Amino acid sequence: MKRRRRAGITRRSMMRSAAAAAMFGPLFQATEGSVSGQERVNKNSAPSTLKITDMRACRVAANYDYPLIRIDTNQGVYGLGEVRDAGVEGIALILKAHLLGKNPLNIEANLRTARQFANHGRMGGGYSALDMALHDIAGKVYGVPAHRLIGNKNHDRVRIYADTTSHPDPKVYAERMRKRRAMGLTFFKMDLQSSMLKDRPGALNERGVCTEKGLGYLCEYIAAIRDVLPPGAPLAADHFGRLNVNDSIRYARAFEPYQLSWAEDLLQISEGAIHPYLNWQAYKTISDATVTPVLTGEDIFGLQGGFQELLDHHAVDAIHPDIETSGGLLETKKIADYATMRGIQVAMHHAGSPIGGFAGYHCASTFGDNFLAMENHALDMPWWQDLVTGVPKPIIENGYVKVPDDRPGLGLELNDAVVKQHLRRPGYFEPTPMFDDLIVSGFHTGGAWPHYDETGKWCNCVTYE
Ligand SMILES: [Mg+2]
Repeated sequence: MKRRRRAGITRRSMMRSAAAAAMFGPLFQATEGSVSGQERVNKNSAPSTLKITDMRACRVAANYDYPLIRIDTNQGVYGLGEVRDAGVEGIALILKAHLLGKNPLNIEANLRTARQFANHGRMGGGYSALDMALHDIAGKVYGVPAHRLIGNKNHDRVRIYADTTSHPDPKVYAERMRKRRAMGLTFFKMDLQSSMLKDRPGALNERGVCTEKGLGYLCEYIAAIRDVLPPGAPLAADHFGRLNVNDSIRYARAFEPYQLSWAEDLLQISEGAIHPYLNWQAYKTISDATVTPVLTGEDIFGLQGGFQELLDHHAVDAIHPDIETSGGLLETKKIADYATMRGIQVAMHHAGSPIGGFAGYHCASTFGDNFLAMENHALDMPWWQDLVTGVPKPIIENGYVKVPDDRPGLGLELNDAVVKQHLRRPGYFEPTPMFDDLIVSGFHTGGAWPHYDETGKWCNCVTYE
């Protein structure tokens, strides 16, 4: 029987189109209705021939610098990513030569290539930015929000917390916290430096660590802060100073009556260790000695060689990855799922721009019910949310961020004009030919320069003047 055909459209292809429209209709309607750069997304992209053609960067001067990257492709689709705050974009750009010509949709393969260049702290920022940009591209190509690429959305909104700068006068400090509450936050954190007590006789020992008297003063700060918060409101504390294991136990036990959500990075500095937060034995000794929840992790990269031992040994009660150091969406999802399996809570550190912010919100939306809150370090910076377009404003409303469903990838674009007003130095995503060479380039044979030829004969092809 002859197949009915009209203007090149078969009944079967019409049904396929109808099914696709039913599946993607709302998403594409939203995309078509937008006025942002998402319109540049190539909806006819051929995923199998997609290739990375460039990586460029700029750096926003903010509360901390925000190094931003853009990965371009041969089909006009591009992805945005962010290197860890106060880091430098070069840690991402050194990956460029290793990615040129690769298909960005092969996310795991590309990340495997980059892993040898990643480490803890700011050294995790390049890998993490790459992961974000790849998920931004993949989301745009497949027409799905970034969280869909790593799991199912378990939280429609992500709870936000912010730290609160300390003041030696408890009344002034409490007033600062009252302002945080007035911003609509529902989860709070206070800096609790031992050094606040330096002018109080007998409060600190010769190492600058609180005596029993000093711990009493620190507890007065917590009590003053508690007084301006709703009863039982989640309250965490950070930045205690140079504590060793025994100091940490004394501090954590003193805080027990105040039921903190966590005591953070008690071991910021520990006996010459480069990465004190990886010292799971020390953290286990502390957390086994107190019921104050113990947390660390903002400078840890990766699950393997990073969070895994802390989690395997239940050395902390909660972890605190920063998606701009921990490895981006995919690795942070693995870390959070592993923590869930071990019965450990997950919070998120963040002190970057809305680019890393939304990477974190998409990622955290897939976490289990053990997710606590994600930090925002820019509540006092009015233009933070002006850096981007495409997401509902205010980004933080009543202490939460809504995780977008209706826009592909990370779901936002840079507001070029605002970003350009705040550049650390001139240049907005300028060409980066200086990063075209591999930084681990393998074995060289042949060519115009000195080398051994295929017969093993030394060929000194050039003469240096
Ligand atoms: Mg911290």
